[in-house]
Amino acid sequence: MIRESSSSFKKITQANLHKKPLIISGPCSAETEDQVIQTALQLKQTDYVDIFRAGIWKPRTRPGSFEGIGSAGLPWLQKARELTGLPLAVEVATSRQVEEALTHQIDILWIGARTTVNPFSVQEIADALKGVHIPVFIKNPIHPDLELWLGALERILKAGIEDTGLIHRGFSSYGNTLYRNPPMWHLAIEMKRRNPGIRMLNDPSHICGRREILLDISQTAADLGFDGLMIESHITPDTAWSDANQQVTPEKLKEILNEVIWRRENGTNGDSHETLQKLREQIDQLDDELLQILTARMKIADKIGAYKKENNITILQTKRWNDIMERALAKSEQLKLSKEFLIKYFDSVHMESINHQNKIMND
Ligand code: PEP
Ligand code: MN
Repeated sequence: MIRESSSSFKKITQANLHKKPLIISGPCSAETEDQVIQTALQLKQTDYVDIFRAGIWKPRTRPGSFEGIGSAGLPWLQKARELTGLPLAVEVATSRQVEEALTHQIDILWIGARTTVNPFSVQEIADALKGVHIPVFIKNPIHPDLELWLGALERILKAGIEDTGLIHRGFSSYGNTLYRNPPMWHLAIEMKRRNPGIRMLNDPSHICGRREILLDISQTAADLGFDGLMIESHITPDTAWSDANQQVTPEKLKEILNEVIWRRENGTNGDSHETLQKLREQIDQLDDELLQILTARMKIADKIGAYKKENNITILQTKRWNDIMERALAKSEQLKLSKEFLIKYFDSVHMESINHQNKIMND
C-alpha cells in the first residue's frame, strides 16, 4: 500500500503549505464527481487557493442527514488534483479513514472539531500515522477547552508528525444567533502564544454558519496575524448537501479574498518598529500607573474591611455595588469604553476587593 503522496506532490504540498496567507478551500462535502471537479477547476482559476479540501466522511451532529460519500469520493479528488495541480486535504476521524486517505495519496489530513474532543479517537489517528510523513491540521475542539486542543496536538507530534497546523473554527455555544460557533478569539490567541512555531489558520465558514459575514471574520483573522484560511466553497452553494448556508461560489470566494487585507508583523513601513516601540513605552508607563492606582484602591478596601469586621457588617453591600456600576456605565460613552468592558472591569475589581476583605475578616 502507498503510505504517502508521491514525491512530486510532496514538493508542491510543501511549497503551497509555506505560503502566507495559506488558503485551503473546497466544498464542505464531496457530493458527485462533477461537483468536485468543477469546484476544483473554478477554485484554481481564482488564483488564491493553495490546497483543495473536501469532506469525504462527514461527522454530522444528528443522524439522518448526509454523512459523506465515503471512499468512493477519493478517486474524484485525485482526478481534481490531476486537473488543477492542487494538493488535497481531507478530514479523518478513524484509523480506517487514515488508511483509505493514504491509499489514495491524499496530501494533507485534518482532524475535525468533533474528533479533537475525544482523546481515544485522536490517539487512534496518531497511532495510524506512526512512520508516515504527511502534514496534519488540527481543528479546535467543539467546546472551549484549550487543554483538549493542546492534547490533540501533542498526540500528533508524539506520533512523529513534523508538519502540523492548527485551525480555529470557533466553539459551540447554546442559543447564540450571531455566529454558528462564536470565535472566542482569546482562545485561539492563547493557543498561538503557546505554540509559536505552528501555523494557525482560521475557518470563517464554521464560525459564521452563513456566508454574509465571512469577510468580517476573515479580516479579523488577518488582523490578528493568522497564517491563512480554510474556507468552504461549492459551485452551487444553495443546493449543497451539507452546510449550504455558509458556502460560497468560487467567484464569490475570490471577491471576499480580494477584499481581505493581510498585515505583516513588521508592516510595510521601515521605521514602524520604532514608532510602535515609543507608543508601547507609553502603554507600559500607563499600565504601571494603573496598577499602582489599583493597589491604592485595594488598600482602602482593606481599611473598609477592617471597619466592617469591627462593626459586624457584611462584606457584600449590593446597593453600594449597584451604585458604583451605574455611575461607571453612565460615563461609558464619554469615556469611550464599552459597557461590556466596564462591567467586566468592575466585576473583577469588585471580586478582588471581596477577596481582600474576606482575608481580613478571617485573619
Ligand atoms: C468541516 O470542515 O466540514 C467540518 C466538519 O468542520 P468542523 O470539524 O470544524 O465542524
Ligand atoms: Mn462543513
